[in-house]
Amino acid sequence: MLVERIWTGNAYRNFNYLVACGETGEALAIDPLDHEKCLNRAKVRGWQITQVLNTHEHLDHTGGNAAVIAATGAKLLAHHKAGSKIAGVDRGLAAGDVVKVGKSVELECLDTPGHTLCHVCLRAHGDQPAIFSGDTLFNAGAGNCHNGGDPRLLFATFVEQLAKLPENTRVYPGHDYVENNLGFTLDREPDNADARALLPQVQGHDPEASAVWTLAEEKRFNTFFRLQSPGVIARLRERFPDLPEQPDPQTVFVKLRELRNSW
Ligand SMILES: [Zn+2]
Repeated sequence: MLVERIWTGNAYRNFNYLVACGETGEALAIDPLDHEKCLNRAKVRGWQITQVLNTHEHLDHTGGNAAVIAATGAKLLAHHKAGSKIAGVDRGLAAGDVVKVGKSVELECLDTPGHTLCHVCLRAHGDQPAIFSGDTLFNAGAGNCHNGGDPRLLFATFVEQLAKLPENTRVYPGHDYVENNLGFTLDREPDNADARALLPQVQGHDPEASAVWTLAEEKRFNTFFRLQSPGVIARLRERFPDLPEQPDPQTVFVKLRELRNSW
């Protein structure tokens, strides 16, 4: 599996992705908002984009579909319930469906509601496991739930699906928010040594050249995976004195998401 992470440099800080088969040169474009950069990168690599996949229906993920499809004739894939929200879907995806790219790449669809109700993540198995997580999981953060989402569903997606992936899974999110997210981690958990060590490395960094972090690393510096951390809970109880001494993880997640909304 060959992966190109394309930094759009736009105000929304989107990452777009090309995932290609090294044998055939066929490629899948994930959320190719910056269609010019995606088409150019495919050309440079000698790849043919045969499929476009939207992780979810928001315009900053679907806005490049038409141009990429017009240039390549690619098929459009999205969540099976997204057909009324995304124009021209050729294949609706459900949990467990497999997206094949050329001969050598197979990606498993995860049905991952929370940011929206029609959100898929793509999981690569094998010796280089990866997750293309759209706006569900960000480096050091979680997607918001403002535009058609539900934080309780996002919690379930984190706990029941994402947290159970192999620890060496590489995380490919839909946006670069790592600097702000680490700031939030440190606001919630000031003694988080991993977040404190990483923050200066990403302050003002070039996302094009940014590291790719693993799930094991996320669990150390992403507050939304640290729902049982005594420090996180103690500080949350200062802010929400009505919380019990041992609040359930869903409550912790929802309260953290609420604080992050206005942080
Ligand atoms: Zn979104």
